[in-house]
Amino acid sequence: MTAQILDGLQTAKTIRAELAEEVVQLKEKYGVTPSLSVVLVGEDPASVTYVSMKKKACLQVGMESTIHELPADSTQEQVKAVLTKLNEDPKIHGILVQHPVPKHLDENDILAHVDVNKDVDGISVYSLGKLLLGEANFVACTPLGMIVLLDRYGIPIQGKRAVVVGRSIILGKPAALLLLERHATVTICHSRTVDLADVCREADILVAAVGKAEMIKGDWIKPGAVVLDAGYNRVPGRDKDVGDVEFEAAAERASYITPVPGGVGPMTIAMLLRNTVEAAKKAEGILQ
Ligand code: NDP
Repeated sequence: MTAQILDGLQTAKTIRAELAEEVVQLKEKYGVTPSLSVVLVGEDPASVTYVSMKKKACLQVGMESTIHELPADSTQEQVKAVLTKLNEDPKIHGILVQHPVPKHLDENDILAHVDVNKDVDGISVYSLGKLLLGEANFVACTPLGMIVLLDRYGIPIQGKRAVVVGRSIILGKPAALLLLERHATVTICHSRTVDLADVCREADILVAAVGKAEMIKGDWIKPGAVVLDAGYNRVPGRDKDVGDVEFEAAAERASYITPVPGGVGPMTIAMLLRNTVEAAKKAEGILQ
Protein backbone atom coordinates (compact mmCIF):
# COMPACT_ATOMS: atom_id res chain seq x y z
CA MET A 1 0.00 0.00 0.00
CA THR A 2 1.33 3.43 -0.87
CA ALA A 3 -1.49 5.70 0.38
CA GLN A 4 -1.39 7.39 3.75
CA ILE A 5 -4.41 6.53 5.90
CA LEU A 6 -6.74 9.39 6.82
CA ASP A 7 -7.39 8.23 10.37
CA GLY A 8 -10.90 9.40 11.19
CA LEU A 9 -10.97 7.51 14.46
CA GLN A 10 -7.93 9.30 15.85
CA THR A 11 -8.91 12.68 14.39
CA ALA A 12 -12.40 12.40 15.87
CA LYS A 13 -10.86 11.47 19.22
CA THR A 14 -8.67 14.58 19.11
CA ILE A 15 -11.66 16.77 18.21
CA ARG A 16 -13.74 15.27 21.02
CA ALA A 17 -10.94 15.98 23.51
CA GLU A 18 -10.75 19.59 22.27
CA LEU A 19 -14.53 19.91 22.63
CA ALA A 20 -14.45 18.45 26.16
CA GLU A 21 -11.99 21.20 27.13
CA GLU A 22 -14.18 23.84 25.49
CA VAL A 23 -17.25 22.54 27.34
CA VAL A 24 -15.39 22.86 30.66
CA GLN A 25 -14.61 26.50 29.79
CA LEU A 26 -18.22 27.21 28.79
CA LYS A 27 -19.46 25.79 32.08
CA GLU A 28 -16.89 27.55 34.26
CA LYS A 29 -16.81 30.95 32.58
CA TYR A 30 -20.41 31.30 31.40
CA GLY A 31 -22.45 28.68 33.26
CA VAL A 32 -23.52 27.22 29.91
CA THR A 33 -23.78 23.48 29.25
CA PRO A 34 -24.31 22.72 25.55
CA SER A 35 -27.35 20.48 25.19
CA LEU A 36 -28.57 18.29 22.34
CA SER A 37 -32.11 16.90 22.07
CA VAL A 38 -32.67 13.95 19.79
CA VAL A 39 -36.17 13.09 18.58
CA LEU A 40 -36.69 9.44 17.69
CA VAL A 41 -39.97 8.44 16.05
CA GLY A 42 -40.55 4.68 16.10
CA GLU A 43 -38.23 1.86 17.08
CA ASP A 44 -36.09 1.14 14.04
CA PRO A 45 -33.23 -0.90 15.60
CA ALA A 46 -30.42 0.90 13.71
CA SER A 47 -31.89 4.29 14.66
CA VAL A 48 -32.19 3.24 18.32
CA THR A 49 -28.47 2.34 18.28
CA TYR A 50 -27.42 5.58 16.53
CA VAL A 51 -29.45 7.70 18.93
CA SER A 52 -27.93 6.09 22.00
CA MET A 53 -24.42 6.46 20.49
CA LYS A 54 -25.08 10.17 20.00
CA LYS A 55 -26.29 10.61 23.57
CA LYS A 56 -23.29 8.73 24.96
CA ALA A 57 -20.91 10.86 22.88
CA CYS A 58 -22.52 14.06 24.23
CA LEU A 59 -22.20 12.91 27.83
CA GLN A 60 -18.56 11.88 27.28
CA VAL A 61 -17.58 15.45 26.39
CA GLY A 62 -19.58 16.90 29.29
CA MET A 63 -22.58 18.04 27.28
CA GLU A 64 -26.21 17.27 28.07
CA SER A 65 -28.40 15.15 25.87
CA THR A 66 -32.00 14.01 26.00
CA ILE A 67 -33.81 11.53 23.80
CA HIS A 68 -37.48 12.11 23.02
CA GLU A 69 -39.01 8.82 21.97
CA LEU A 70 -42.29 9.02 20.10
CA PRO A 71 -44.42 6.06 18.97
CA ALA A 72 -44.12 4.91 15.35
CA ASP A 73 -47.74 5.91 14.68
CA SER A 74 -47.24 9.53 15.78
CA THR A 75 -48.89 12.12 13.58
CA GLN A 76 -47.12 14.96 11.82
CA GLU A 77 -48.69 17.40 14.28
CA GLN A 78 -47.58 15.39 17.33
CA VAL A 79 -43.96 15.35 16.15
CA LYS A 80 -44.08 19.05 15.35
CA ALA A 81 -45.59 19.81 18.77
CA VAL A 82 -42.54 18.21 20.43
CA LEU A 83 -40.25 20.24 18.18
CA THR A 84 -42.09 23.46 19.04
CA LYS A 85 -41.39 22.84 22.72
CA LEU A 86 -37.72 22.13 22.04
CA ASN A 87 -37.43 25.19 19.78
CA GLU A 88 -38.79 27.35 22.60
CA ASP A 89 -36.63 25.86 25.37
CA PRO A 90 -33.57 28.11 25.85
CA LYS A 91 -31.67 25.32 27.58
CA ILE A 92 -31.74 23.19 24.41
CA HIS A 93 -29.12 24.33 21.90
CA GLY A 94 -29.28 21.59 19.27
CA ILE A 95 -32.14 19.47 17.91
CA LEU A 96 -31.78 16.39 15.75
CA VAL A 97 -34.63 14.37 14.28
CA GLN A 98 -33.28 10.87 13.69
CA HIS A 99 -33.47 9.93 10.00
CA PRO A 100 -35.48 8.14 8.65
CA VAL A 101 -38.85 8.93 10.21
CA PRO A 102 -41.71 6.44 9.55
CA LYS A 103 -42.93 6.53 5.96
CA HIS A 104 -46.36 8.04 6.71
CA LEU A 105 -44.67 11.24 7.91
CA ASP A 106 -43.37 14.09 5.73
CA GLU A 107 -39.72 14.25 6.83
CA ASN A 108 -38.87 17.51 5.04
CA ASP A 109 -41.85 19.25 6.62
CA ILE A 110 -40.80 17.96 10.06
CA LEU A 111 -37.18 19.07 9.57
CA ALA A 112 -38.36 22.49 8.40
CA HIS A 113 -40.02 22.87 11.79
CA VAL A 114 -36.66 22.73 13.61
CA ASP A 115 -35.42 26.22 14.53
CA VAL A 116 -32.65 26.93 11.99
CA ASN A 117 -30.42 28.11 14.86
CA LYS A 118 -30.78 24.69 16.48
CA ASP A 119 -30.58 22.53 13.33
CA VAL A 120 -27.21 20.97 14.20
CA ASP A 121 -27.81 18.17 11.71
CA GLY A 122 -27.93 20.77 8.94
CA ILE A 123 -30.39 19.00 6.65
CA SER A 124 -33.53 21.12 6.88
CA VAL A 125 -34.65 23.05 3.82
CA TYR A 126 -33.44 26.29 5.46
CA SER A 127 -30.01 24.93 6.41
CA LEU A 128 -29.50 23.49 2.94
CA GLY A 129 -30.64 26.78 1.41
CA LYS A 130 -28.14 28.67 3.53
CA LEU A 131 -25.40 26.25 2.46
CA LEU A 132 -26.33 26.93 -1.17
CA LEU A 133 -26.03 30.66 -0.49
CA GLY A 134 -22.59 30.11 1.07
CA GLU A 135 -23.97 31.28 4.43
CA ALA A 136 -24.28 27.94 6.20
CA ASN A 137 -25.30 28.01 9.83
CA PHE A 138 -24.77 24.31 10.41
CA VAL A 139 -23.58 21.84 7.80
CA ALA A 140 -24.65 18.18 7.59
CA CYS A 141 -22.28 16.22 9.81
CA THR A 142 -20.89 13.55 7.45
CA PRO A 143 -19.87 15.93 4.62
CA LEU A 144 -18.54 18.42 7.17
CA GLY A 145 -16.51 15.60 8.76
CA MET A 146 -14.88 14.85 5.41
CA ILE A 147 -13.81 18.46 4.88
CA VAL A 148 -12.49 18.74 8.45
CA LEU A 149 -10.52 15.52 7.93
CA LEU A 150 -8.88 17.03 4.82
CA ASP A 151 -8.10 20.21 6.75
CA ARG A 152 -6.62 18.36 9.71
CA TYR A 153 -4.25 16.53 7.35
CA GLY A 154 -3.37 19.80 5.57
CA ILE A 155 -4.71 18.55 2.23
CA PRO A 156 -5.47 21.47 -0.11
CA ILE A 157 -8.88 21.68 -1.81
CA GLN A 158 -8.70 24.89 -3.83
CA GLY A 159 -8.25 24.33 -7.55
CA LYS A 160 -8.51 20.55 -7.25
CA ARG A 161 -10.78 18.46 -9.44
CA ALA A 162 -13.29 16.83 -7.08
CA VAL A 163 -15.69 14.06 -8.06
CA VAL A 164 -18.55 13.17 -5.71
CA VAL A 165 -20.29 9.87 -6.43
CA GLY A 166 -23.78 10.07 -4.90
CA ARG A 167 -26.25 12.94 -4.72
CA SER A 168 -28.25 12.38 -1.55
CA ILE A 169 -29.41 15.35 0.49
CA ILE A 170 -27.54 14.21 3.61
CA LEU A 171 -24.26 13.35 1.93
CA GLY A 172 -23.48 13.73 -1.77
CA LYS A 173 -25.05 17.13 -2.48
CA PRO A 174 -23.79 18.94 0.66
CA ALA A 175 -20.32 17.38 0.18
CA ALA A 176 -20.25 18.77 -3.37
CA LEU A 177 -21.38 22.23 -2.19
CA LEU A 178 -18.73 22.31 0.54
CA LEU A 179 -16.00 21.37 -1.92
CA LEU A 180 -17.29 24.03 -4.31
CA GLU A 181 -17.27 26.62 -1.53
CA ARG A 182 -13.62 25.71 -0.96
CA HIS A 183 -12.94 26.38 -4.64
CA ALA A 184 -12.64 22.84 -5.96
CA THR A 185 -13.97 22.14 -9.46
CA VAL A 186 -16.75 19.70 -8.71
CA THR A 187 -18.51 16.96 -10.67
CA ILE A 188 -21.46 15.12 -9.11
CA CYS A 189 -22.15 11.57 -10.30
CA HIS A 190 -25.17 9.33 -9.72
CA SER A 191 -26.81 6.13 -10.89
CA ARG A 192 -27.33 7.44 -14.40
CA THR A 193 -23.86 8.87 -14.95
CA VAL A 194 -22.34 7.57 -18.18
CA ASP A 195 -18.71 6.33 -18.06
CA LEU A 196 -18.47 6.63 -14.28
CA ALA A 197 -15.03 5.00 -14.23
CA ASP A 198 -13.59 7.62 -16.58
CA VAL A 199 -15.12 10.48 -14.59
CA CYS A 200 -13.64 9.06 -11.37
CA ARG A 201 -10.22 8.79 -13.04
CA GLU A 202 -10.19 12.59 -13.36
CA ALA A 203 -10.59 13.15 -9.62
CA ASP A 204 -7.85 14.66 -7.47
CA ILE A 205 -10.35 14.28 -4.62
CA LEU A 206 -12.83 11.42 -4.92
CA VAL A 207 -15.82 11.22 -2.56
CA ALA A 208 -17.68 7.91 -2.52
CA ALA A 209 -21.22 8.21 -1.12
CA VAL A 210 -23.15 5.44 -2.82
CA GLY A 211 -23.88 2.57 -0.43
CA LYS A 212 -22.66 -0.24 -2.72
CA ALA A 213 -19.86 -2.47 -1.50
CA GLU A 214 -16.55 -1.88 -3.34
CA MET A 215 -18.32 -0.51 -6.41
CA ILE A 216 -15.51 1.95 -7.11
CA LYS A 217 -12.58 -0.08 -8.38
CA GLY A 218 -8.92 0.46 -7.64
CA ASP A 219 -8.09 1.25 -11.27
CA TRP A 220 -10.67 4.09 -11.27
CA ILE A 221 -8.38 6.02 -8.91
CA LYS A 222 -6.09 8.65 -10.41
CA PRO A 223 -2.53 8.12 -9.16
CA GLY A 224 -1.99 10.45 -6.19
CA ALA A 225 -5.71 11.12 -5.63
CA VAL A 226 -7.26 11.64 -2.20
CA VAL A 227 -10.07 9.14 -1.57
CA LEU A 228 -12.86 9.77 0.96
CA ASP A 229 -15.11 6.75 1.35
CA ALA A 230 -18.36 7.38 3.26
CA GLY A 231 -19.87 4.03 2.29
CA TYR A 232 -20.68 1.54 4.98
CA ASN A 233 -21.78 -1.82 3.64
CA ARG A 234 -22.39 -5.17 5.26
CA VAL A 235 -21.42 -8.05 2.99
CA PRO A 236 -22.83 -11.52 3.73
CA GLY A 237 -20.05 -13.93 4.66
CA ARG A 238 -17.49 -11.22 5.44
CA ASP A 239 -16.60 -10.41 9.02
CA LYS A 240 -15.87 -6.74 8.37
CA ASP A 241 -18.02 -3.98 6.87
CA VAL A 242 -16.64 -2.48 3.68
CA GLY A 243 -16.80 0.88 1.95
CA ASP A 244 -17.88 1.85 -1.54
CA VAL A 245 -14.26 1.75 -2.72
CA GLU A 246 -12.13 -1.34 -3.34
CA PHE A 247 -9.77 -0.36 -0.53
CA GLU A 248 -6.61 -2.43 -1.07
CA ALA A 249 -6.38 -1.73 -4.80
CA ALA A 250 -7.28 1.94 -4.40
CA ALA A 251 -4.65 2.38 -1.69
CA GLU A 252 -2.00 1.28 -4.21
CA ARG A 253 -2.74 4.36 -6.31
CA ALA A 254 -4.09 7.02 -3.93
CA SER A 255 -1.96 9.42 -1.91
CA TYR A 256 -4.46 9.46 0.99
CA ILE A 257 -7.42 7.22 1.70
CA THR A 258 -10.02 6.76 4.45
CA PRO A 259 -10.41 3.21 5.76
CA VAL A 260 -13.81 1.62 6.46
CA PRO A 261 -14.42 1.45 9.33
CA GLY A 262 -12.41 4.17 11.05
CA GLY A 263 -12.43 6.87 8.36
CA VAL A 264 -15.40 9.11 7.59
CA GLY A 265 -17.77 7.37 10.06
CA PRO A 266 -16.25 8.49 13.37
CA MET A 267 -16.03 12.09 12.13
CA THR A 268 -19.83 12.30 11.81
CA ILE A 269 -20.61 12.21 15.54
CA ALA A 270 -17.62 14.46 16.30
CA MET A 271 -19.15 17.06 13.95
CA LEU A 272 -22.56 16.72 15.61
CA LEU A 273 -20.91 17.55 18.94
CA ARG A 274 -18.99 20.43 17.37
CA ASN A 275 -22.13 21.88 15.77
CA THR A 276 -23.97 21.65 19.12
CA VAL A 277 -21.16 23.48 20.95
CA GLU A 278 -21.26 26.15 18.21
CA ALA A 279 -25.06 26.41 18.55
CA ALA A 280 -24.71 26.90 22.31
CA LYS A 281 -22.09 29.63 21.85
CA LYS A 282 -24.22 31.45 19.27
CA ALA A 283 -27.39 31.18 21.37
CA GLU A 284 -25.63 32.51 24.47
CA GLY A 285 -23.78 35.23 22.53
CA ILE A 286 -20.36 33.80 23.40
CA LEU A 287 -17.51 34.55 21.02
CA GLN A 288 -14.60 32.24 21.78
P1 NDP B 1 -28.54 7.18 -0.75
O1 NDP B 1 -29.05 5.81 -1.06
O2 NDP B 1 -29.48 8.21 -0.28
O3 NDP B 1 -27.80 7.75 -2.04
C1 NDP B 1 -26.97 6.95 -2.81
C2 NDP B 1 -26.50 7.72 -4.03
O4 NDP B 1 -25.67 6.84 -4.78
C3 NDP B 1 -27.64 8.16 -4.93
O5 NDP B 1 -27.44 9.50 -5.31
C4 NDP B 1 -27.53 7.23 -6.12
O6 NDP B 1 -27.84 7.82 -7.36
C5 NDP B 1 -26.05 6.90 -6.13
N1 NDP B 1 -25.82 5.63 -6.79
C6 NDP B 1 -26.45 4.46 -6.58
N2 NDP B 1 -25.99 3.52 -7.41
C7 NDP B 1 -25.05 4.09 -8.17
C8 NDP B 1 -24.22 3.66 -9.23
N3 NDP B 1 -24.26 2.39 -9.66
N4 NDP B 1 -23.37 4.54 -9.78
C9 NDP B 1 -23.32 5.82 -9.35
N5 NDP B 1 -24.09 6.30 -8.35
C10 NDP B 1 -24.93 5.45 -7.77
O7 NDP B 1 -27.35 6.94 0.29
P2 NDP B 1 -26.69 7.95 1.35
O8 NDP B 1 -26.14 9.14 0.68
O9 NDP B 1 -27.60 8.12 2.50
O10 NDP B 1 -25.49 7.01 1.86
C11 NDP B 1 -24.45 6.58 1.01
C12 NDP B 1 -23.52 5.68 1.80
O11 NDP B 1 -22.95 6.41 2.87
C13 NDP B 1 -24.18 4.46 2.46
O12 NDP B 1 -23.27 3.38 2.43
C14 NDP B 1 -24.42 4.89 3.87
O13 NDP B 1 -24.41 3.80 4.78
C15 NDP B 1 -23.20 5.76 4.10
N6 NDP B 1 -23.39 6.78 5.14
C16 NDP B 1 -22.39 6.93 6.04
C17 NDP B 1 -22.49 7.87 7.03
C18 NDP B 1 -21.38 8.01 7.99
O14 NDP B 1 -21.56 8.58 9.03
N7 NDP B 1 -20.22 7.51 7.65
C19 NDP B 1 -23.68 8.73 7.17
C20 NDP B 1 -24.65 8.54 6.13
C21 NDP B 1 -24.50 7.59 5.16
P3 NDP B 1 -29.35 8.29 -7.76
O15 NDP B 1 -29.53 9.61 -7.05
O16 NDP B 1 -29.31 8.41 -9.22
O17 NDP B 1 -30.28 7.23 -7.24
